[in-house]
Amino acid sequence: MTITSRSVHDAFVGRFGGQPQLFRAPGRVNIIGGHTDYNEGFVLPTTTGLHTWVAIAPRTDRTLRVFSRLFDSLEEIDLDRIEKCADAQWYEYVKGVAAILETAGHSLRGADIVIDGDIPLGGGLSSSASLETVLAFALLDRADIEIERGELAQLCQRVETEYVGIRCGIMDQYVISRCVKNRAMMLDCRSLEFQSVEMPADARLLVVDTGVSHRLPVGEYNSRREECEEAVALLAGEIPQLGALRDLDLAQLEAKRKLLDDRHYRRCRHIVSENQRVQDACSALQRGDVQRLGELITASHVSLRDDYEISCAELDALVEIMNSCPEVYGSRLVGGGFGGCVVCLVDAPHLDRVMDRVQVEYGALLGRAPWAHAVTPSDPVGPAPTIEPLEVPESAANS
Ligand code: ADP
Ligand code: MG
Repeated sequence: MTITSRSVHDAFVGRFGGQPQLFRAPGRVNIIGGHTDYNEGFVLPTTTGLHTWVAIAPRTDRTLRVFSRLFDSLEEIDLDRIEKCADAQWYEYVKGVAAILETAGHSLRGADIVIDGDIPLGGGLSSSASLETVLAFALLDRADIEIERGELAQLCQRVETEYVGIRCGIMDQYVISRCVKNRAMMLDCRSLEFQSVEMPADARLLVVDTGVSHRLPVGEYNSRREECEEAVALLAGEIPQLGALRDLDLAQLEAKRKLLDDRHYRRCRHIVSENQRVQDACSALQRGDVQRLGELITASHVSLRDDYEISCAELDALVEIMNSCPEVYGSRLVGGGFGGCVVCLVDAPHLDRVMDRVQVEYGALLGRAPWAHAVTPSDPVGPAPTIEPLEVPESAANS
């Protein structure tokens, strides 16, 4: 069912009564730049037309009463006694946001909250960053605290790194906080300088879910990050100015290859080549060269599959099916890997044809039609659209 301001408002009134304020944040889809963010490199994400929604009304005490529509569960959190994350249940993200904001010196007010959303959970579209960002935005707004959007993103990233235990980069929270509607964001994850780039009119991003998730993402995600840090340590003896893999180029990597074992060498080759692909993709997007952009997207997948080793049979099969469609410019896995979604760049007039084909061909492998979403990049986190007026039957309106 489609989520709207009306549906979220009504869910809140039905549960808590009163008049809530509504907020929402999009998910993110990373066009290219896989795992480069925590290596202080470049990424080119945009936002989805899917959102996490929050309806919130302040309370007079310091309790958060939070209802998740997706999990059909109500939790109470005492803002004065937030215990560290025990597992990654949905309400731990709420606790994490509150704990990080309070620790940063932002004194919050208690609130009744309803959370809803249509971003697939664990699908690589960063439902977690979307949830953190909209919650932080709403809690700060209700406490009359204004912070800069870049700072908002950094606080939300700390929820993942310090609270949930995923050592993620800044990309997801940053694009969700600061993107511009219908544009991609070319972000330098070291300086946090960014450029908004118009999305092409003649091509559309399509996201398709493999429907599988193979490994514990926390462990695999963190282990890739550790391998990158180990490689920097191994290379730094001979390349003293190396602060992160961002600083390495392919010629240096080849020259110093003997310092690395094959695994660390391939992890580096992915990051170094991916940083170059992101910059080339940004130029292609600026020129409107969707053909070239598609080639770079597919090259990114090959590198993530062979060098970074975070793909799986289902992701590879889906990419192959997508790329066999003449209307598809390129496809890659999106997010952490080992399952979740593929993002494809599709010739816009033929989107439906591609959608039908993937439903049939990948559907035959999966045993059901896969979930798919044609991306319309949304506004960043903020107040939700005003509530649609109730449709009044004409006879009632005239009486
Ligand atoms: P991803 O960020 O790729 O979607 P994660 O595993 O990082 O996957 O985050 C998914 C988790 O975030 C969910 O299992 C849930 O705990 C939480 N979450 C995200 N969106 C919502 C939502 N709308 N309602 C409740 N919990 C959510
Ligand atoms: Mg996440």
